[in-house]
Amino acid sequence: MWMKRMKNAIADSVAGRKQCCFCEKEIECKALVVMNLDLGDGQYQTLFSHGLCLKEKLHPTVPFLAPEEVY
Ligand SMILES: [Zn+2]
Repeated sequence: MWMKRMKNAIADSVAGRKQCCFCEKEIECKALVVMNLDLGDGQYQTLFSHGLCLKEKLHPTVPFLAPEEVY
């Protein structure tokens, strides 16, 4: 059940235009990072960002490969 809700949330989030939660610019699909926050009681908040914007905010010791670095 939980996994199905997460899959649906991700599918919904990939369908439309997305705005980066860090720089507020529109995100091209191949640079999209989707973050689903579990708020409890079956509630989720979905945030989108550019991979490089997220990478900039992460501590340098956190391993992370941004989509922009892969494509
Ligand atoms: Zn951004």
